[in-house]
Amino acid sequence: METKIVLKDSEIPKTWYNIMADMPNPPEAVLHPGTGKPIGPDDLAPLFPMALIEQEVSTQRFIPIPDEIRRIYALWRPSPMYRAKRLEEAIKTRSRIYYKYEGVSPAGSHKPNTSIPQAYYNKMAGRKRIATETGAGQWGSALALGASFFGLESKVYMVKVSYHQKPYRRMLMEVFGAKVVPSPSEDTQCGRQILSTDPDSPGSLGIAISEAVEDAATREDTSYSLGSVLNHVCLHQTVVGLECVEQMKIANDYPDVVIGCCGGGSNMAGISFPFLRDKIAGSRNPRVIAVEPASCPTLTKGVYAYDFGDTARLTPLVKMYTLGHDFIPAGIHAGGLRYHGDSPLVSQLCHEGLIEAQAYHQTGVFQSALVFARSEGILPAPESSHAIHSAIVEAKRADEEGKEEAILFNLSGHGFFDLAAYDDYLGGKLVDHEHPENKIREALSHLPKVGA
Ligand SMILES: *Cc1c(COP(=O)(O)O)cnc(C)c1O
Repeated sequence: METKIVLKDSEIPKTWYNIMADMPNPPEAVLHPGTGKPIGPDDLAPLFPMALIEQEVSTQRFIPIPDEIRRIYALWRPSPMYRAKRLEEAIKTRSRIYYKYEGVSPAGSHKPNTSIPQAYYNKMAGRKRIATETGAGQWGSALALGASFFGLESKVYMVKVSYHQKPYRRMLMEVFGAKVVPSPSEDTQCGRQILSTDPDSPGSLGIAISEAVEDAATREDTSYSLGSVLNHVCLHQTVVGLECVEQMKIANDYPDVVIGCCGGGSNMAGISFPFLRDKIAGSRNPRVIAVEPASCPTLTKGVYAYDFGDTARLTPLVKMYTLGHDFIPAGIHAGGLRYHGDSPLVSQLCHEGLIEAQAYHQTGVFQSALVFARSEGILPAPESSHAIHSAIVEAKRADEEGKEEAILFNLSGHGFFDLAAYDDYLGGKLVDHEHPENKIREALSHLPKVGA
């Protein structure tokens, strides 16, 4: 039995898989933040190139990946899938655990799967510059890489606390050529407004999104770019699951459970949507699980409602699971999972019962991360460790039920820039935060009123 299952370069997928072609119900409309009416492609044109807007609303099942993108994907794709034999032995399970490793990309996570196509389509549309936000810096470094490959400028609004706490990610972005500022910044009207009332604002992802959107909306040469949540981002990430479908065939197996950690939903969409296609068609019945932190429990404790994507309420309204656009989660180490909302596609599939959600506290997650690191030899990102933890929980559950299941999870990235978090954990300094019931109730009371 091989432990590392690889594909040939020629097997890099030639198309992305668009789940909107197969969903039981069509996606809910996106609404204009001012009028509350459904928006059309033209409303988004100041922010995104038309090719991405078309992908955002397309119902074509398979969308061709341009050769130029496949050639760049070939720098790290197809990524390996492993049978976690040593992890299975360490936890003494009879189940078979597999993981797809996306940490082999130049930015160390799944995010270049979408930053490369986003930069490509912007270049094709004649845009010169891309503005975006980043929390802990994973998305910013992926976008900076994509922009540099296509000769575009990139401007990254980085949440101020992370800018000061995580200097290495900022440095990586600058190496790849990005201009990085701490957000809130003096560079935008909404940044200046927040600083005038709260000069010491630590920033948040919602604020940084507001700044990047304002930057792109007010400059002809600039697009906005988002590293998760949107339909076209989930689409690009399906290369992960499409490769896994082939790799599971080589392993002569099929997953009973498919798991991804969930911040905005893109890596879990990426690994699971091609398997959900089988589930919707009724040919297979895998369970699909989205795993989130207990301190930012969007799918497990949020409501399914229309909300803004950002704090300053500049973005369109989308129907998603949300904790409220002004919810500010505790400063847990999985920075990539601290978003108040979720992908509308993942949300709808969750609402319709095709995806399950679980939430775990960070100390249990880090405990599982160490078991994984010590048995498999890979240092996992704190975000990805939520998926590892769920895989271990599911394997134990199967053991108790006397079943032998195949469990597949997405190891979305490595944790080399997160060693301080491991240091805190090993030093006994990592704490679990209470379920933020009151903060959620408060933020949910500010949801926009949208006619049902
Ligand atoms: C950004 C990030 C995530 C969370 O984003 P999703 O869109 O939910 O995938 C998860 N893992 C890693 C390593 C990340 O960098």
